[in-house]
Amino acid sequence: MSRFFSEKYEKLIPYTPGEQPSNMKYIKLNTNESPYPVPESVKTAVCRAAEDVRLYSDPECLRLREKMAERFCVDSENIIMTNGSDEVLNLAFAAFCDDETPAVFADITYGFYPVFAEQNRIPYTEIPLKDDFSIDVRDYMGIGKTIVIANPNAPTGMALSLSEIEKIVASNPENVVIIDEAYVDFGGESAIGLTKKYDNLLVCGTFSKSRSMAGARLGFGIGNAELIRDLDTLRYSVNPYNVNSMTAAAGIAALDENEYFSDCCERIKSTREKTREALATLGFEVLPSSANFLFVRCEGLSGEEIYRGLRSRGILVRHFTLPRIADYNRITIGTEREMEILINEIRNITEGEK
Ligand SMILES: *Cc1c(COP(=O)(O)O)cnc(C)c1O
Repeated sequence: MSRFFSEKYEKLIPYTPGEQPSNMKYIKLNTNESPYPVPESVKTAVCRAAEDVRLYSDPECLRLREKMAERFCVDSENIIMTNGSDEVLNLAFAAFCDDETPAVFADITYGFYPVFAEQNRIPYTEIPLKDDFSIDVRDYMGIGKTIVIANPNAPTGMALSLSEIEKIVASNPENVVIIDEAYVDFGGESAIGLTKKYDNLLVCGTFSKSRSMAGARLGFGIGNAELIRDLDTLRYSVNPYNVNSMTAAAGIAALDENEYFSDCCERIKSTREKTREALATLGFEVLPSSANFLFVRCEGLSGEEIYRGLRSRGILVRHFTLPRIADYNRITIGTEREMEILINEIRNITEGEK
């Protein structure tokens, strides 16, 4: 820390992204990227947009928002486009939380939420998941705080039903409920439809996971027009050109490829179930997953040992040090072939070390 760094950030612990090593070619199952490429049409759109890169991007993302509106059956005034969904989440923390209205989220969830809160100097509380890692809806009824729920949750992969989400939203009419649907396309039920009925619901989504565009950085928020205007007030106060023109073009093209991307999701779901069975056969405990990853533990081997064993064999998975989940690893679903290699290496580790 330099002697110039503002005291207000003295205690800030930044988010730790999954490792992106370049020293060797790993099978990357640690950051929930898609194993499948974008279709040609998306690459072509990016190249076309690059020709006009001397111009600023459209701060309103008008064409993209119109296309989104069509796709999600809302009006374009109900949509904000952002630089990854991390940006819309950060804007939402800043816009809808303060000392009078703290944030609340689960103890085991997306590791960025506490960082967003700290960075915006917002007080927050964490509600422990139940012993089976599910969310107890009763914990959130009429809670009087700004609620943030990843659904499906990360890193567990477990999902609440739409009716459970609705109960939470309906019981907190004076507070914003933020539902982070980064993984919804792998088996969750989207709450976007409920944004017409509830003016306190903000649904966030991303092109990073089910649309193979993590490197393009494109996310969105959908909700009541007034909520969206609040987010835009902040966005125009920090970074009006937040979505670059290549990424906006990629997003527009991607929205014409629904069939391709839903095929990819189906493949990932089927690979997920095969991988789950194989891991269960090897004696692993595997949480039920509605996402593109599995959260797993093996009796007799620590999470750290499995993580290190796989890493030395060329496979990266995500290990967390939080005490409650230190015995677990989060494994992204890759191609069928990658998961066969994973299972073989895990078998080697369990046989070698037991
Ligand atoms: C990956 C992820 C995001 C956001 O990713 P972006 O790439 O910024 O869109 C948001 N929430 C959760 C729970 C995630 O896992």
